[in-house]
Amino acid sequence: MSKYGVIIVGGGPAGLTAAIYAIRANMKTLILDKLAPGGQVVNTNEVENYPGLGTINGADLAIKMFEHTQELGVEFDYKTVLEIEDAGDIKKLKCEEDGTVYETKSVIIATGTRPRRLNVPGEDHHAGAGLSWCAICDGAQYRGKDVVVIGGGNSAVEESIYLAGIVNKLTVITMFDLTADPKANDKLCAMSNVTVHRYCDIVDFLGDGKLEGLRFKSNKEDNAEIKTVTCDGVFEYIGLEPTADFCKPLGILNDHGFIETNDHKETKVKGIYAAGDVTSKFLRQIITACSDGAIAANAASKYVESLSE
Ligand SMILES: Cc1cc2nc3c(=O)[nH]c(=O)nc-3n(C[C@H](O)[C@H](O)[C@H](O)COP(=O)(O)OP(=O)(O)OC[C@H]3O[C@@H](n4cnc5c(N)ncnc54)[C@H](O)[C@@H]3O)c2cc1C
Repeated sequence: MSKYGVIIVGGGPAGLTAAIYAIRANMKTLILDKLAPGGQVVNTNEVENYPGLGTINGADLAIKMFEHTQELGVEFDYKTVLEIEDAGDIKKLKCEEDGTVYETKSVIIATGTRPRRLNVPGEDHHAGAGLSWCAICDGAQYRGKDVVVIGGGNSAVEESIYLAGIVNKLTVITMFDLTADPKANDKLCAMSNVTVHRYCDIVDFLGDGKLEGLRFKSNKEDNAEIKTVTCDGVFEYIGLEPTADFCKPLGILNDHGFIETNDHKETKVKGIYAAGDVTSKFLRQIITACSDGAIAANAASKYVESLSE
């Protein structure tokens, strides 16, 4: 029989919360994550909307959540899950690192999302060298320099506010209007070193070796003039796509690649649950990821109990 009651794939807020609920339900619990625990929260400057904590640094919140799992005895291993095989009452998880295969009675998939790409010329060339998706990780190297942020949603606006406090000049280019919380939009627009270009598309990135800038044009006019902005760095925040390709063989993804679940966070495969940003849902935030994790672990523990009846 399998050693684990549940294996949780992904150690972000959804996975860490699932682990807390799972181990408190007496299931032997293992979290597998390819990176350090905490998920996207690790790369968030300030979290201001998690109840009871006021304003907290993202990495600090991630550490608190992980420490909570460790105090309860949850196991954690650095592994990238490549495949989940449904062998009835046992599920087999194949990992990239040294071909390890874990067996478990139930699985919770909490693998979150990754940044969407623009797919315009020059993007691949400058990725990781001038073009970044993480202001917290890479922002400091642009202190006193000129930077562009692409995007106008919550993440784009929050990270722009952070960057504007560091850089010389910040240009925000967004496809639509700014669509973040009105308070955040107002704060950004009031910053003296920020210029916002609304309803614009990116044409391409410039620079053969080092990034030198980008070209953009209005998406409101036919034959709009192509404009150039010179800069030292660019940050893209144009949305997220699910990290669930490895789940395709299970047949649990919707047309957009997110995992479909019911209210109990059950997928259509018995014993396999999903939680957090990787699932089809209305609001992708830390608090809703935690909520999903709690529900998934509760449902998984009832399922595991039913196996031994
Ligand atoms: C810039 C930014 C700012 C944000 N600010 C806020 C905010 O202020 N407040 C708020 O509530 N929300 C905020 N969010 C959203 C919030 O971070 C997410 O909703 C939340 O992290 C989702 O949690 P999750 O556990 O579902 O996924 P994630 O946090 O994405 O964690 C998924 C984990 O799965 C791991 N993983 C992926 N694939 C595999 C695999 N095959 N094998 C093993 N491990 C794998 C990843 O390494 C990762 O650790 C922000 C997001 C971003 C990008």
